[in-house]
Amino acid sequence: MKRRSFFQILLGSSISSRFLPSTSSAETTPPPTGPFTLPPLPYAPNALEPYIDAETMTLHHDKHHAAYVNNLNKAIAPYPDLQKKSLEELLGNLDAVPSEIRTTVRNNAGGHANHSHLWKTLSNPGKKPEGKLAKEIDESFGSYEKWKEEMTKCAMGIFGSGWAWFARGKDRKLFIKPYPNQDSPLMESASLIYGIDVWEHAYYLKHHNLRGDYVKACLELSAW
Ligand code: MN
Repeated sequence: MKRRSFFQILLGSSISSRFLPSTSSAETTPPPTGPFTLPPLPYAPNALEPYIDAETMTLHHDKHHAAYVNNLNKAIAPYPDLQKKSLEELLGNLDAVPSEIRTTVRNNAGGHANHSHLWKTLSNPGKKPEGKLAKEIDESFGSYEKWKEEMTKCAMGIFGSGWAWFARGKDRKLFIKPYPNQDSPLMESASLIYGIDVWEHAYYLKHHNLRGDYVKACLELSAW
């Protein structure tokens, strides 16, 4: 047995490692520093307590999100033409990405895009959508309360890891849809509005297995 796989087996049995992103074999080589960079959290890690605890925020941003950025930069390092593309361009046309890195780009560009949007849209507990979007939500879902029910249903229905996204399609229509893993509405050239990350790394330290409590907390924090 190779030394590394032995350690992986050891790590696999510890609870905390299950929530950390997988590291690559190039642990000794520093990852490329671009073209993509980790955006700073737009608030202190404890800013969303008691809804989301500081430790979860720190791990989620500094470890998980950072890993998506690093893995994406590493994957596209040999492809100068891909380095010039935006996340929207990469994810909106994955067929243009060489097949040997397509899944890596899908997972990590998706993870980077989803999380970058997430941090910006959490804050201001209890705030409700206003103006034109509020009107559109009423028209599309019946009411903001109905929208919340729909988001909850979507987030609770996801088996395993994924996201519940509220987004605007290419046809300008609003929709709520589940996405597995780090798939993103950007893969359909839709615009992100608000997503709930239901990976266990997003809530397990505080909410344990109670995904419903976490989803409720997220919906209180939706600040778009
Ligand atoms: Mn996450």
